[in-house]
Amino acid sequence: MIQPDVDLQPYNTMTIAARAKYFCTASSLDEVREALLFAREHKLPILPLGGGSNIVLTDDFPGLALHLGMRGLEFETLAAGAGSDKSTDSGVRIRAAAGENWHQLVMRSVELGYGGLENLALIPGNIGAAPIQNIGAYGVELKDSFEQLTALEIESGELVTFTAEQCQFGYRDSIFKGPAKDRFLICEVVLRLSSIWQPHVSYPALQQHFSEHGQSPDALTPAIVADAVIDIRNSKLPNPVEIPNTGSFFKNPVVDEQLYTSLKAAHPELVAFEAVDGWKLAAGWLIDQAGWRGFRKNGVGVHDRQALVLVNPGHRCGSEVVNLAREIASDVQHKFGVTLEPEPRFYP
Ligand code: FAD
Ligand code: NAP
Repeated sequence: MIQPDVDLQPYNTMTIAARAKYFCTASSLDEVREALLFAREHKLPILPLGGGSNIVLTDDFPGLALHLGMRGLEFETLAAGAGSDKSTDSGVRIRAAAGENWHQLVMRSVELGYGGLENLALIPGNIGAAPIQNIGAYGVELKDSFEQLTALEIESGELVTFTAEQCQFGYRDSIFKGPAKDRFLICEVVLRLSSIWQPHVSYPALQQHFSEHGQSPDALTPAIVADAVIDIRNSKLPNPVEIPNTGSFFKNPVVDEQLYTSLKAAHPELVAFEAVDGWKLAAGWLIDQAGWRGFRKNGVGVHDRQALVLVNPGHRCGSEVVNLAREIASDVQHKFGVTLEPEPRFYP
């Protein structure tokens, strides 16, 4: 099943037409192991692929692009007292293979009446990639419902279990972006949702949505919150199927008190939130203020409703995207003294 010289355009939401020296989809653990054996024999680097919604292909990939397509989704209802550290209430444990679609998992849990994942509706991609950057939206992160994951160590071929603590989750961050980078293939993720539900609706966009729709904060359900998130996202984020993109292109920078104070004095309308280690600035606001929203050049550009999203309507190569990102980051640095770091991973 390992194919040589494959176009990766259908496998990345930026629709960049880079080629992989080899490509295969693994639908089982055995197939993953076979693919790893092939890569080892041919001394090939590996590009693990889920939905391709958080990668930028800057050139052809000189190794094996390994699409993790394992399927399997189980909901296990828990009796009261079945929780380990999460309380003694009943709830549900969700066991999902890496190739399951994230949004479908969220909607299934909402349909079954469980809360906890609704703020994460409509995030593209597969479950296997969700722990890599501890996906988050509207104040909720994967780590809030995470129990454990199983990953295959590339070097040894051994299956290893990681608890939440071992994953070292942070803000759009985990051990898989740090010390464990490129060492593991995530095969299965286990989540735990409690039957006791608290809506997380502090984000202004959600508040505004509920007030416009006359929905009282006391009458919210996971399904109502999921619908709101879907509506809001559809209204301001480009659907990658129509306009190629990778979501937020830059992380929201966290700056120290001194820089925050001087920026706030110069720009009273600065969008900033107090964080554990300083002030989190809305990168989209900085890019917008620098005049980039709606910009287009050489088939790539900046989304007109959210300046944090770079788009590739011309299906151009990765270097066009990277050049635009560099221009934007350098302009923001020059105008605000703030360094922007890309969120998606660049390959090779
Ligand atoms: P891919 O892009 O395929 O891979 C991402 C990285 O993970 C790569 O380094 C890849 O090698 C690695 N990887 C993938 N699968 C595995 C695996 N099984 N084992 C080991 N490594 C693996 N992100 C958010 O956090 N919040 C958002 O709200 C959000 N909104 C988005 C909106 C849009 C329109 C888009 C296009 C993206 C958005 N993203 C968001 C980013 C992205 O959807 C997430 O990061 C998602 O988890 C990526 O999943 P994927 O399967 O597409 O990963
Ligand atoms: P938004 O609601 O317009 O908010 C703008 C920025 O302000 C966001 O970056 C958000 O930070 C921050 N923010 C807003 N209210 C906050 C609060 N009460 N407390 C702390 N921070 C607050 O953002 P948006 O672009 O429409 O995105 C909505 C949500 O989806 C955000 O959480 C965003 O991260 C997520 N999203 C992520 C991606 C991605 O690719 N990573 C793409 C699209 C949307 P945070 O980003 O830290 O939440």
